[in-house]
Amino acid sequence: MSHEPIPFVDLVAGVRPQREAYLAAIAKILDTGAFVGGPAVGEFEAAFARFCGAPHAVSVGTGTDALLLALRGLGVGPGDEVITAANSFFATAEAISLAGATPVLVDVRDDTLTIDPAAVESAIGPRTRCVVPVHLFGQLADVEAILALAARHQLAVLEDAAQAHGATRVVGGKTVTAGAIGDAAAFSFYPTKNLGAFGEGGAVTTARADVADRIRRLRDHGQGARHDHLEVGYNARLNAISCACLSISLAHLDEANARRRALAARYRERLTDLPGLRLVAEDPGATAVYHLMIVRVDVGRRDAIRDALAKDGIATAIHYPRPIHLQKAYAHLGQGEGSCPIAERAAMEMISLPMYPELSLSAVDRVCDALRAAL
Ligand SMILES: *Cc1c(COP(=O)(O)O)cnc(C)c1O
Repeated sequence: MSHEPIPFVDLVAGVRPQREAYLAAIAKILDTGAFVGGPAVGEFEAAFARFCGAPHAVSVGTGTDALLLALRGLGVGPGDEVITAANSFFATAEAISLAGATPVLVDVRDDTLTIDPAAVESAIGPRTRCVVPVHLFGQLADVEAILALAARHQLAVLEDAAQAHGATRVVGGKTVTAGAIGDAAAFSFYPTKNLGAFGEGGAVTTARADVADRIRRLRDHGQGARHDHLEVGYNARLNAISCACLSISLAHLDEANARRRALAARYRERLTDLPGLRLVAEDPGATAVYHLMIVRVDVGRRDAIRDALAKDGIATAIHYPRPIHLQKAYAHLGQGEGSCPIAERAAMEMISLPMYPELSLSAVDRVCDALRAAL
């Protein structure tokens, strides 16, 4: 029937095709008793490192842990400033604060909504240690420009790749993949992410063996050898059942990302040149994995448009309604309204449309028709 509700995401539909494989993997772990650590963890880490083209992957409890442990692994701490985008999920800045450093939130490009390299450059000061480009909505940030300015100013680069598992971009004739670009990259396996666990999860990828070793130690109470605590760390390990299930999902991730791209292509085709609506630009050479499908509408019309879609049974969301520098938790930074005008304006314009691999093309068409009618 044509008026079945269209959810924003459908995690149950995502589980269905591999349900038996997941249950078998869980049963195997129940029978071995290796619930924390054990072979499933190392196997997933090796497979995920291979997928990203990174020499090392270290699994951790959450994406926020991945950011925090990566920052600490890169030597970021109290007294340091870390530059990141104002329009990310709160955790990007939160992890910087948890590491003891100070987030410096900068504006984004108006077309792609990823961090603006020029804004990064002008925010660099004597205490800047690190830049955290966010591969927002599944598209790689301007990594070429950011790597160049980081090299010039001797800054570490930590990719926030929580929304970009498998995203690529052609840089200087070479294809680079999220997770194999900066000094380290942080991934989240929160259930709604492109690669999602059945619970919380995260990982850090890096080419630096020293950073990988430090993160392995930090996630396990700072232990070197057993009962030998070299520093104060965290309990931030990823459990074996999650790793075993993630290995199964990872084997199907390219397929799922390709499906997201096909759905995005249909949205783009149907919504191009629609007056009163803007799409997020795709950078030349970038292959986005569409964690989210974003459209921008005129400020002041958003609620009415979302209400009209809701009446048609179409669920939407907003990512994110308030930029990080305007959150109460960061009032003390003193970055008031007007400090990141593009991010602030985008926050009032954006609508996230339904996007998940099991969404049908006819559902996309229905969303586009409803948007056209609402506009
Ligand atoms: C989801 C997300 C995080 C945090 O990951 P958790 O696993 O929820 O802790 C960080 N940054 C971005 C951009 C995210 O989307």
